[in-house]
Amino acid sequence: MMESFEKAAEIILASEFTLALTGAGISVESGIPDFRSAEGLWSKFDPAEYATIQAFRADPEKVWEMLREMDKVVSRAKPNMAHRGMSELEQMGCLHCIITQNIDNLHQAGGSKDVIEYHGNASTLSCLWCGKKYLATDKRDENLPRCECDKILKPDVIFFGEAIPEEAMNRSFQLASSAKALLVVGTSAVVSPVNSIPSIAKRNGAKIIEINIEKTNLTNSVTDIFFQGNAGDIIPQLVTAAKQKNDN
Ligand code: NAD
Repeated sequence: MMESFEKAAEIILASEFTLALTGAGISVESGIPDFRSAEGLWSKFDPAEYATIQAFRADPEKVWEMLREMDKVVSRAKPNMAHRGMSELEQMGCLHCIITQNIDNLHQAGGSKDVIEYHGNASTLSCLWCGKKYLATDKRDENLPRCECDKILKPDVIFFGEAIPEEAMNRSFQLASSAKALLVVGTSAVVSPVNSIPSIAKRNGAKIIEINIEKTNLTNSVTDIFFQGNAGDIIPQLVTAAKQKNDN
């Protein structure tokens, strides 16, 4: 493992442009369950039934049962050692941009500056009918948040079946094709199209460093260095290794 940390540190220090792709796993240690946890939100609310745009349009009241619980979990979560470590890597000039699938705002809360939110952010709500936008905090007291036009509001997160924000998608694919190193942290890499980022980066010559508590379908296909463990343990060790190499 020590040797791998040294190698990974060497890769990110030598890379002109290092990108990261993060998923729900990086926020598990902040108390937000991923899709796989046996306990938690997604065992109670099947994402296929509650997290599609068709479900929201057909029955927004029902989908808000899930959204209220998600908001409770997300609004009390704080950045963990992994979020903070990634922000430290950014400050050291070793990490240039994070593409996150998470909607929890924890990278920004942990200090990261350049974050592409591929699946949106739960901190604002919009009206699908008139387009008006609200801060989620201003609507938290309403059991069923409504627009001034009386329609039920939707959080600005990308539901299954919705288009990815064009700017986020274009910038992500452009950066993936020019990155020299890619950190893939806490994602099962099964949600499309974001899961094509590691193979795009690999095809264009990037080294892939993956951190996950278990192997994924990337591990034996595109990953160069795999760290098995909690992101909150592994990332601080990577930061330490990068600092040591930098000092030498
Ligand atoms: P996923 O739930 O499919 O996979 C999570 C991955 O993280 C798994 O491979 C798991 O082994 C790994 N993992 C779990 N705990 C970990 C830890 N402590 N350290 C390192 N790895 C860990 O999540 P996904 O790939 O991001 O895709 C699911 C979709 O769900 C995304 O689109 C995302 O937007 C959404 N989602 C977001 C949040 C959030 O914002 N925090 C939470 C749940 C789901």
